[in-house]
Amino acid sequence: MNLRIPGPTPCPEAVLEAMAQPMINHRGPEFKEMSERLTRNTQEVLQTANDVLFFTSSGTGMLEAAVVNTLSPGDQVLVLITGTFGQRFAQIARLYGARVTSLDYPLGHGAEPQSVRDALTKNPEIKAVLVTHNDTSTGITNPLEAIAKVVKQEFGRLLLVDAVSSAGCVPLPVDQWQCDVVATASQKGLMAPPGIGVISISQAAWEAHRTAGMPRLYFDCTQAKRFLELGQTPWTPALSVLFALDTSVQMLLKKGLKETFNHHASLAQITRDGIQDMGLTLFADPRFASDTITAINVPPGVDGSTLVERLRSQYNIIVGGGQESLKNKIFRIGHMGYCFAKDIQQVLDALAEVLPGLGFNPRPNSSRNQ
Ligand SMILES: *Cc1c(COP(=O)(O)O)cnc(C)c1O
Repeated sequence: MNLRIPGPTPCPEAVLEAMAQPMINHRGPEFKEMSERLTRNTQEVLQTANDVLFFTSSGTGMLEAAVVNTLSPGDQVLVLITGTFGQRFAQIARLYGARVTSLDYPLGHGAEPQSVRDALTKNPEIKAVLVTHNDTSTGITNPLEAIAKVVKQEFGRLLLVDAVSSAGCVPLPVDQWQCDVVATASQKGLMAPPGIGVISISQAAWEAHRTAGMPRLYFDCTQAKRFLELGQTPWTPALSVLFALDTSVQMLLKKGLKETFNHHASLAQITRDGIQDMGLTLFADPRFASDTITAINVPPGVDGSTLVERLRSQYNIIVGGGQESLKNKIFRIGHMGYCFAKDIQQVLDALAEVLPGLGFNPRPNSSRNQ
């Protein structure tokens, strides 16, 4: 199977094998050793000296953790919405009592730093800015470095980042960009199965944490940090997934961060070129095109869900459809984590074969047919 949805992503064999290890005492020395190694290695992936905490959770839990650990009911926050995941971040903040202002960008576009500057100028009460680094729903990467400059250097506000589909795939130097909270999870760029959430917390975020009044128990970072110092987690963790993540993060670092980022940039380029050579068009504004996922417009006359279904039933290729308002309008090819050029080529070849039967004739292309 060629699993090209944006998570869970395929895992290397060694990562799957790591899951078959027998259980250990999660309050014993073996766990402590693994926990220390995984913490160190994940800090290296995120290029940070900040605390990095692990929870048994999917990525959404880490978005919730980012909110409840730094904010109080009544706090004003600014959410940059570029798709489904920004909406989710806003929903969490609202549910816990934050006063949410949002900037909604047209789907397929990234957030503009100037609009963030304007919003922060107009509204000095905003305490935190919540942003999706890579919006998986539309295939864009936000200009996080430029946004962070505005939020941190110009205004000194908290910056909470959803990096679920970017961490470990594209540059995210957490300390250099001064990201206060960065949330991610095991099942996308980190090449492990779903089940472990990861969050990094800066000094400024810890200071906010001290007075943050939103309710929390399972995701309380004070607890998590206290236990981490003992080499433990507050609650019983998904040990098998941690074994897997410990292995996959080591693999990632062995390949090298820079090499890994270049690899994703190259996969994305192959995808975008192949798609356009065929005469299909890309959904995202090219200035913001993501290196971990490519969204493609379903061509006129073609039924999007039939296309996705044919790829699955005839080629065993699983791509993502569009979500919510983009349902049947786009389809998405994931290229994050353990993915290679041959996997992308297989999707392009299958598309070239399947599209004519659905009413779209791909442009013949010599480079593709060589
Ligand atoms: C996948 C994803 C999430 C979280 O998804 P979970 O299913 O909860 O792990 C959050 N944000 C982005 C950008 C994602 O791609």
